[in-house]
Amino acid sequence: MSVRVRFAPSPTGPLHMGGVRTALYNYLFARKHQGKFLLRIEDTDQNRFVPGAEEYIMESLKWCGIQWDEGPDNPGAYGPYRQSDRKVLYKDYILHLVNSGHAYYAFDTPEELEAMREKLSSDKSGNPQYDSNTRLEMKNSLTLSEKEVEERLAAGEPYVVRVKIPESEEVVINDLIRGKVSVDSGLLDDKVLFKSDGMPTYHLANVVDDHLMHVTHVIRGEEWLPSAPLHVLLYRFLGWEDSMPQFAHLPLLLKPDGHGKLSKRDGDRLGFPVFPLEWKDPETGDTAKGYRETGYFPEAFVNILALLGWNPGTEQELFSMDELIHAFSLDRVGKSGARFDPEKASWFKHRYIQEKPLEEISELFLVDLQKKGIEADMKTAKTVVALVRDRINFLHEIWDQADFFFSAPEQYDEKFAKKKWKEETSGLMLQLSEKLVEIENFSREHIEAGLESFMEEQDIGAGKLMPGLRLALVGAGRGPDLKEIMVVLGKEETVRRISKAVARLGGASK
Ligand code: GLU
Repeated sequence: MSVRVRFAPSPTGPLHMGGVRTALYNYLFARKHQGKFLLRIEDTDQNRFVPGAEEYIMESLKWCGIQWDEGPDNPGAYGPYRQSDRKVLYKDYILHLVNSGHAYYAFDTPEELEAMREKLSSDKSGNPQYDSNTRLEMKNSLTLSEKEVEERLAAGEPYVVRVKIPESEEVVINDLIRGKVSVDSGLLDDKVLFKSDGMPTYHLANVVDDHLMHVTHVIRGEEWLPSAPLHVLLYRFLGWEDSMPQFAHLPLLLKPDGHGKLSKRDGDRLGFPVFPLEWKDPETGDTAKGYRETGYFPEAFVNILALLGWNPGTEQELFSMDELIHAFSLDRVGKSGARFDPEKASWFKHRYIQEKPLEEISELFLVDLQKKGIEADMKTAKTVVALVRDRINFLHEIWDQADFFFSAPEQYDEKFAKKKWKEETSGLMLQLSEKLVEIENFSREHIEAGLESFMEEQDIGAGKLMPGLRLALVGAGRGPDLKEIMVVLGKEETVRRISKAVARLGGASK
């Protein structure tokens, strides 16, 4: 049987990085086994619908290179792939459950439910929930006469359909990551499966759709583990036990200190994004940062996520998507929570920028320059990027490290000038200028030879000459090798900057 897995997000907001990781593991698993990866939008809870969230989810997955084989925009044989478009499908299954005695109609009002909860909490008689202990005291098709139920339904009274959980029975889940998990059904409540507006709830829709879409493995976050026993029971009640998918519940993503689930607030507090793309809340207008806008390459982001919960069993840390597909297996996914380490994330982004072909980074840098209204050619961009890339983590930092290649300093670092621009510096610089003008071929070698012979003639060491020269060319004490800078600037610009510094900094430091 060929593998079919799905990512089934609810469009209730932006996709958290934990959600992207779930999608990624599903995708890797599908590709590894030459199976299919489905995207299904679970939007049965209309109250929680957030405009733009579905588009955000799709755009995020695309940015990461997690391409689905079947989804709302490219349906396969088992569509539609958005649950609200499948509404008509679920009714038959709910009727089947009611008719076979595994579900029942309930007419309790919110006030009645609240009263039941209050009574049970004050009795301390166990969990205040709708279950085998309480259902017979409530207003439902188990306690009302058949006639009354029919009348209420015919009158269009609001109702829900609840699952009838067996009183006490061991429900077993064979989880591919956690092994055998068994739960006493007595602890479960009679969850709502269907509402009178004709919409199923998550539990029913999820099980029915996984079955109809021939899903073979349900790979999802640990937060769904408590729902798995109910899902197993539903497979049984619907007579689908033999084709029930296998379950794999992924470990939670934890805060950097290892305590508790990673949340948006941690990101704000510690200064890293928890969302793949920037998200503007349609209600509050608040904007949350995204990895994309912060300057991460999608490959780096995917690499970070892949290692949050899965370990390859080798020392390898950098993985392309193809390498991940090849190496991935669910047996190497851990049970315990995966701690998110922002420093490690920074390390990845740094590595990725170093590993990218120079050509690619330089092209991006040229675009950046163009936006600033600076015209440069590919050769210059490549030279400059090669000189500064080991100092950067993000693309936009290239400019911070290389601005002086493209515009002459307007100001000079005061502290540095005070220390390094001595009384004699201006004179020295003017003489150096004369020497530089004479160099015909302004190459690294010739510049180097020129500087050497100048220092010899003047009987000075590099310490007397270079800092002043750097100040003139860069405006501060930073930057790569001066000779390289001079080659990029060219003779004329080098000489012009020296004269400008002499004019501005004058004869002496005070
Ligand atoms: N719609 C659920 C969610 O938003 C999907 C859970 C599952 O994969 O079964 O996470």
